[in-house]
Amino acid sequence: MTTISEILNKERFTKEDIVKLLKTKGEESKLLLDKAREVKVKHIGNKVYYRGLIEFSNICAKDCYYCGIRRSNKNTNRYEIGTKDILFAAKFAHENRYASIVLQGGERTDNVFIENVDNLLKKIKEQTNGELGITISLGEQSEEVYKRWFDSGAHRFLLRIEASNRELYNKIHPNNDLHNFDKRLDALKTLQNLGYQTGTGGMVGLPFQTYENLAEDLLFYKKFDIDMVGMGPYIEHAETPMYVHSKDLLPQKERFNITLKMIAILRIMMPDINIAAATALQSIDPLGREKALKIGANVIMPNITPTIHRKEYQLYENKPCIDEGADDCTGCLEARISLVGDKVGYGEWGDSKHYFNRTKK
Ligand code: SAM
Ligand code: SF4
Repeated sequence: MTTISEILNKERFTKEDIVKLLKTKGEESKLLLDKAREVKVKHIGNKVYYRGLIEFSNICAKDCYYCGIRRSNKNTNRYEIGTKDILFAAKFAHENRYASIVLQGGERTDNVFIENVDNLLKKIKEQTNGELGITISLGEQSEEVYKRWFDSGAHRFLLRIEASNRELYNKIHPNNDLHNFDKRLDALKTLQNLGYQTGTGGMVGLPFQTYENLAEDLLFYKKFDIDMVGMGPYIEHAETPMYVHSKDLLPQKERFNITLKMIAILRIMMPDINIAAATALQSIDPLGREKALKIGANVIMPNITPTIHRKEYQLYENKPCIDEGADDCTGCLEARISLVGDKVGYGEWGDSKHYFNRTKK
């Protein structure tokens, strides 16, 4: 039988290898996490890049079964932050040398929304002399819209595949045209073809999800030649259809531990990509994101959404920092990051090295 050390020394992991690594415990798990740290430092160093997260609207046309801001949840106050407040948050990020922001929100494809995002991108670029990098995470859009937003200043896009296994994807989404696995895949390909640094990812610990499904996710990211990945534990929300499966879930702590192992394995498989320490990790463990940085992640997204709107962007229960202002939230972050041996790349975009390696091929 192949030992964990032997697997870790392989050039390429098979699905079976990944499943074994995901099931490691104790000393064997430590071997994996230590190796991932070593690979991270060797290939991309110990710098962590900030992306100030602005959750600018919770209005969504979609109905994903797991998400607290899904269209059918009538118990959420819907909001859209005005241009002035978004520009203020972007200014905060710029002045504090975050170097980049992420504009994230529910998915809408109406013209008013498209126009609004386009104007925002232009204004943010103008206000910061093009210095602030912009990542967007606004779901599936047409090629024209993706191109328009790219031309207006966005250069990275996050679109999680959520679950790369088609059957699992279909179980966690309504079965209709708005939630179509092939369309999501096509959207990812379009982003890549247009020249975006393209990010994807998924949730860990979903109902019905197997270790094999998780291994498939990692192999999918590799095959897709993705530039950035964000993986976080699935966290239940009482106002969603998926809540009925809560009793079948692994304990949250276990979902957390598996997410860390997913990050570590991916770092070894794709040494030069950017991996985000997802906010959902912090909901389970206050030091969750820092633990992820220690074993392979290199991007963190401090929440700079104006405080009054944070409680309305509840994708899941116990979402952290909903009562804190941007300064409070990020005040001790640098110290916590240095405790795990990393340092903040202030003022640096920290683009995905993989993107440049991929596009110069
Ligand atoms: N609407 C866009 C989209 O879906 O691509 C971007 C915003 S969406 C809220 C961002 C991510 O939140 C999703 O890709 C999903 O993985 C994550 N998410 C939603 N509900 C979640 C839950 N209950 N637990 C953990 N993550 C969740
Ligand atoms: Fe909307 Fe994104 Fe939530 Fe799905 S995950 S309901 S698209 S905000």
